[in-house]
Amino acid sequence: MKVTEYFEKAAGKTLISFEVLPPLKGGSMEAIFNTLDPLMEFKPPFIDVTYHRQEFVYNKRESGYYEKTAIRKRPGTVGICAAIMHRYGVDAVPHLICGGFTTEDTENALIDLNFLNVQNVLCLRGDAQKFEGKFIPERGGHKYAIDLIHQVNDINNGNYLDGTIVDGAKTDFCIGIAGYPEKHFESPNPMMDLEFTKQKIDAGGDYIVTQMFFDNQKYFDYVDKCRAMGIHVPIVPGLKPITKKYQLNSLPRLFFVDMPDALVKDLMKAKDNAAVKEIGIEWCIQQSKELKERGVPCLHYYTMGDSETIRRIVEAVY
Ligand code: FAD
Repeated sequence: MKVTEYFEKAAGKTLISFEVLPPLKGGSMEAIFNTLDPLMEFKPPFIDVTYHRQEFVYNKRESGYYEKTAIRKRPGTVGICAAIMHRYGVDAVPHLICGGFTTEDTENALIDLNFLNVQNVLCLRGDAQKFEGKFIPERGGHKYAIDLIHQVNDINNGNYLDGTIVDGAKTDFCIGIAGYPEKHFESPNPMMDLEFTKQKIDAGGDYIVTQMFFDNQKYFDYVDKCRAMGIHVPIVPGLKPITKKYQLNSLPRLFFVDMPDALVKDLMKAKDNAAVKEIGIEWCIQQSKELKERGVPCLHYYTMGDSETIRRIVEAVY
């Protein structure tokens, strides 16, 4: 079923969903099942699986020269989606990115997903590679998420890259997109960020999943601004509990999000990571409760493989 159909069916009730990361190469599906098994009693109708593009590493050879090697540390998104759907009978939402994909690669991935009966995709651009100052699209690939949305629309209409295919099978993907209550870091200002988000919705985005945030007011303001601009699709809040002290610096650096004073002060006072985790869990519980009271369509938790923490939060909210 499509993610948006779950929201319609829920008729105002707040659903729960989770995001999982593929295990590091060499790991097994057990890592995913060990994360999800304890969470399935909360009946998530869909589970997101992130996508991680290949990275380049430089290995020093005997000659002293460096050899550039491509590695994918977390492969397996499509296979994991299939395994999740098979084991739990819920829908899986693969994240699709522009980075590292030609349009041909994307089309082939969409064909595989359609054959596996995956009906939802979250369309993203992806980030710049570590050694690149800015996002560089693959040669023959997409520059922005909106271009990827156009391609999904094309295949939904039976239009394949090879123009000679007539009466091509039509897919029916529901399209999710990313939204940023605190603005995407490359956007020149919040209004332009919203304008680009609206363009993605006008191009065929069916719903928005937000970047994590720690101040619910930022989400409420974001939703108000989206509505004022004519964005009327469901806006799903993405939630991540803080569990380690270093995240006080790493999360703002990596995700360009602010933390409220009250949270920061409490975390600074915490003696150790065990205390930090308790504060982070309690904060996320309070965030979740308020969002649920305000009738958000879904609480979407970034699990990061830590089912025990997410379980404690969801148990306290439901
Ligand atoms: P876009 O919508 O393409 O926007 C990128 C930037 O370009 C923005 O600053 C936007 O304002 C600007 N822009 C858009 N259109 C134009 C235009 N026409 N002209 C000029 N500027 C424009 N990354 C992964 O690699 N794998 C994942 O699995 C993954 N999952 C994610 C899940 C969620 C819920 C979120 C919020 C993010 C996720 N990301 C993931 C990170 C995401 O790829 C990055 O945030 C990326 O930098 C932007 O992706 P986007 O889809 O928002 O890009």
